[in-house]
Amino acid sequence: MGFSTKQIHAGVEPDPVTGAILTPVYQTTTFVQDSVDEYLSKGYSYSRSGNPTVQALERKLAVLENGAACTCYATGMAAIQAVIQAILSGGDHAIVSDVAYGGTYRLCTTVYQRYGVEFSFVNTADPDEVRAAVRDNTRLILTETPANPTLKLTDIAAVSGIASEHGIAHAVDNTFLTPFYQRPLELGANISIHSTTKYFDGHNATVGGATITDSEELDEKIRFVQNAGGVIMSPWVAWLTLQGIKTLSIRMDCQSANARAIAEFLEAHPKVTRAFYPGLASFPQHELAASQASGYGAMLWFEVEGGVAAGKKLMDSVRLCTLAENLGSVETLITHPVTMTHADVEEAERHRVGITDGLVRLSVGLEDVEDLIDDLSGALQRI
Ligand SMILES: *Cc1c(COP(=O)(O)O)cnc(C)c1O
Repeated sequence: MGFSTKQIHAGVEPDPVTGAILTPVYQTTTFVQDSVDEYLSKGYSYSRSGNPTVQALERKLAVLENGAACTCYATGMAAIQAVIQAILSGGDHAIVSDVAYGGTYRLCTTVYQRYGVEFSFVNTADPDEVRAAVRDNTRLILTETPANPTLKLTDIAAVSGIASEHGIAHAVDNTFLTPFYQRPLELGANISIHSTTKYFDGHNATVGGATITDSEELDEKIRFVQNAGGVIMSPWVAWLTLQGIKTLSIRMDCQSANARAIAEFLEAHPKVTRAFYPGLASFPQHELAASQASGYGAMLWFEVEGGVAAGKKLMDSVRLCTLAENLGSVETLITHPVTMTHADVEEAERHRVGITDGLVRLSVGLEDVEDLIDDLSGALQRI
């Protein structure tokens, strides 16, 4: 079956009691048991440990990522935290992409370092640097590709090869491309992580997260800490996400086509000094983008003449593009990572990995692309 068929039908079936075509929102804390001896005979006890609406989403995501099992969470950060908690103990070491979502960096450095976990932030775009960073106590390689916000890519198959040689788990944050364009487990990774807040939801309605694993056993380990810590997804969020996913492939294709057109417009504009989009031939890792994913996504970034001040003016003068954190929604969002999503990454570290003060990030939405280009064109004239 093709992806679009699966995104609509996988994991769900008409409600056996009423025939409702949509999985109901099972908004209940507890589930009544038939008897002490038949405890859990219907499979549910308490909504922290399992809820039918959330499980429908988990089944669907496992199918879409071609994985063994999925667990959903309150947020994308909770998903990343569950992976860390399930795999790493004090004294263990993890290799993390040096460019990643700001919250990932913050979680590692301000929380888990305090528990005695060691982290190396490595340029995972170069497999040799990953290999060189492996220690005897390395248990996890956590990569994000394309990485937020510079779009630096990691060769998933190459890094998975290094990880498996050393018996290390490889987790990939696949939020930017979704399984419609990129399936890390098929390339050898063990865990695919998502902020479902982004393209799965697609409508700026919810925050949520997911992990999909290549084995049931690994999912059980992760699910154990999820239940122990209680960072579950609510049934309402799961229900909204189930609806969002039904249009994932068409949203991704249209938003990516818009992003390409905007990237080409920006690249040719005299006031734009640099424009980065994995689909452009000028993108430094364009070939890797084309070979490990079936699409380039809808995220891009650029810098304008006049540096930081001009970039800020541009973000303040767009009218249709909306100044906001978040990405992946049908609304086009413009972000200044240095003051917004990556404010907690130290300045020296930001500069080392190429998150410049003038970097403007664009999450391209589903509006008519001519309107978006008009908006950007007008704002560029005003800077
Ligand atoms: C947003 C994001 C996260 C964090 O997800 P939340 O749902 O905001 O907690 C993690 N990784 C990437 C790549 C993201 O874009």
